[in-house]
Amino acid sequence: MKAHHIEEVLFSADQIEARVRALVHDMAEGCRSENLVLIGVLRGSFIFLADLVRELYRQDVHPRIDFMTLESYGSGTESSGTVRVAKDVGMEVAGTDVLVVDDILDTGRTLSFARQHLLALGARTVRTCALLDKPARRSVPFQADYVGFTIEDRFVVGYGLDYDGRYREVPHIACVTFAG
Ligand code: 5GP
Ligand code: MG
Repeated sequence: MKAHHIEEVLFSADQIEARVRALVHDMAEGCRSENLVLIGVLRGSFIFLADLVRELYRQDVHPRIDFMTLESYGSGTESSGTVRVAKDVGMEVAGTDVLVVDDILDTGRTLSFARQHLLALGARTVRTCALLDKPARRSVPFQADYVGFTIEDRFVVGYGLDYDGRYREVPHIACVTFAG
């Protein structure tokens, strides 16, 4: 782990809460399928997904929920080119309408892989939702159907996102500054 500190709050817990509510309001009408499955990409999406589904409940949307663990080779703050399934979905997704939920859309490789993978498993439709989007970092063309916040090319932690396994529990989203 490089020397670093966490300082600047990018989005407060209150700002995130308000944005999640508005986002679910936008997605609720499109999510009326009887056969809706939310699939969280572990591990970064777990808090976002937990907030999303409770807000969906308030807006009378009742999906089934599952997770998959996707890994890109490499560590630290850079993802490498290849995505692999470390743990696949446990539920039958053939014929379902899937909404994939990820923490952050960066190069685009993870969500683009997830989409292809779920279509290959027979999902009827696959839509994608990312809490954060860094369009400047895209290396494969990809646009999520729903985005919480669009941000600049900064490394962020909190609200589920980690640096080397740490800071997931931070209730707001903060920028990491690397020393040196
Ligand atoms: P992509 O495949 O779009 O490059 O990568 C998305 C994944 O990279 C995210 O799900 C996340 O795990 C990781 N990632 C990308 N940018 C950040 C960031 O700023 N902070 C953290 N904690 N993870 C990031
Ligand atoms: Mg991730």
